[in-house]
Parts: sequence; C-alpha cells; structure tokens
Amino acid sequence: MNNSNLIQANYFLLELQKLEKISAELKVDYCIYCKSYNIIKHGKYKHLHRYKCKNCKRTFIPTTGTTIHYLNKRTKFLEYYSIVSKFGKLTIKELREKLGICSQTAFDWRHKLFTTYSHEFRLVEGMIYLKNIEKNFSQKGRKFKAYNRNLKKNAGKTNLISYGDNNFIYSKTVKIGNYDKQDLDRVLKKSFNHNVQIIYSGNENFRKFIEGNLIKKAFCLDDKSFFGNEVKKIYYDIKTLELNKTISLKFRGVATKYLQLYSNFFSSFLSAKTNYELTKLINNNLVWFKFVQMEKIYEKLLRRVSKIDEQFVHIKRYWKNEDRFTEFRFESLIGY
Ligand SMILES: [Zn+2]
Repeated sequence: MNNSNLIQANYFLLELQKLEKISAELKVDYCIYCKSYNIIKHGKYKHLHRYKCKNCKRTFIPTTGTTIHYLNKRTKFLEYYSIVSKFGKLTIKELREKLGICSQTAFDWRHKLFTTYSHEFRLVEGMIYLKNIEKNFSQKGRKFKAYNRNLKKNAGKTNLISYGDNNFIYSKTVKIGNYDKQDLDRVLKKSFNHNVQIIYSGNENFRKFIEGNLIKKAFCLDDKSFFGNEVKKIYYDIKTLELNKTISLKFRGVATKYLQLYSNFFSSFLSAKTNYELTKLINNNLVWFKFVQMEKIYEKLLRRVSKIDEQFVHIKRYWKNEDRFTEFRFESLIGY
C-alpha cells in the first residue's frame, strides 16, 4: 500500500467510527418490522442497543434493514460511496480494481447504494416538465431458465416517465408495453398538486392525465398556441437535455429489472442530490428489504402492472431473514 492509499484508508476508518457513533445515537421508537410501539431494550449487539418487540417478538438493532445491514468491508463501502456521490457510477471493472472486491460484491454494492438513493422523495412544485422515456426490454444477467425467450419477443418497450421542477428530477417506471391514463394516475398522482404548471410534448396520455386531474396550467410544446412561449420551451429543453444524454449514455444495456434503481440514482445525480452524508446510510430501514426483494418487485412489474402472463423463473439467492418484512406492500414499490 502506498502512502496516499494509506492516508485514504485511515480517513475512511475514521469515517466508519463516526458512522458507528451516530448509529448508536439513533432513536428507536417502534418496531421496524410491525411498527408496534411496544418495544423494550434487550441487551446489546456490539456497540448498539438491541431491542425486542413485545408484539411480534422479533429483535432488532437501530440499523437493521438500512444500507449497512449485513454489510461487510464497511470502510471500503464508505470509500465507494464517497466516489460515487462525487463522480457518478463506476463500472464493475473500476469497482473491482479500485476497491479490490469481487464482481458479485461490486454488483451488490452498486444496487444497495442505488436503493439508498430511492428515498428522497418530495412533491415537485411550480413549473414542471413531463417527459416519456422508452427503453428496450432487457433480460441482461438472466441465464438458463430465468431467461424467457417469449418475453424477449413479445414484451413491448419499457416506459418511464420523467418529471421535475427547478430542484428535482424524478423518473418512474410506468409499465412494460403501452400505458394509459390510469397508469399515469398510479405513478404520478402523489407527485404534485393541481396548481402546478406543466410543460410537456405531444403525448395523448399526458393530456388526459392533465384534464382528468384538473390541472389548469398545462402547455403542450406541439400546440400552435404554444408559439411565443419561448421561456417555457427553453426551460423544457434545458431540463430534458441532460436527461436525454444521461439516458442514452448511462442506461445502455441496463436490465429492465434494475431500470428503476438506475433511474433513481441518475435522477438524484442530475439533481445534485447525491452528496456524501453518513446519515443517509442509516436513516431508512427498508433499503435492505428492497435490495433483497428486487426479483419479486420485478415479477410484480411484469405480472401485476404490465399484465404479462408469461412463465417467470426466479433467480434465487438466499438471504438471511429476507421474508421478515411481510407487511410491506409490493405494489408501492413499482416505480418507487
Ligand atoms: Zn414488531
């Protein structure tokens, strides 16, 4: 190890100590599994309090289910987190070489970190844009029985909707194949109030959605009446230009299963919201759950949302306690 590597390793060792300190100070009010407030302290796990739920009888620590749950090589993960928050995604090869981890760990860390970025959601306000993005259906990474030849042939394009205001960009998976107004309602309804101004380009579903949700100020770029609204057009172009570039460059060959994860990450990155903050790694108890259930979430996208009635063979990996969050509703995870 040369000098600068050593300094860096020491730096992240100190960061890990900080992370452990703030983990120990996390306030726990209710059971992370069943949300009951009927919990008691139940000994210690390393430097953390362990809790026991009197309702569901499960035990947990404050960081159960968060990004660092069951995470080994934590100092390296912190180093990875700091690089990605600054420079964006690393390739698997870069990850392996820079951090000395194997390919599977590199994939897992990427997905874990991208899942972490899925939670900074808020309503968009003021002038917002709406844009449809189409991606080819992809089963990349699926082998043998888990790869479905018919799906490849028959599944339509995957549709994502990107929307945002001056501060945030979001992109959500709507459906594989053609979608309608109901699908848009499902995905977009809680994203903004009806007093926003929407700028969009020709898409009949957008128009129906806007009318159906009583949004009064909406501007279609293709309308003749739009002529003269240069400021709005420039706004739309600026908002979508970076997005277009990112989608065509960074989403090349992303498996449909992971499309939402990637778009969460790049939306955060383009919104300049990927700053390195230790608290982000411990403030959401659902990260690990989503991470281990990704295959089931993908199945719901195919079957329930997109109504694709094809045989689906799971890629099975085994995780300790993966089924503990039984209360969790999968539907809410499509386009999360
Ligand atoms: Zn409980």
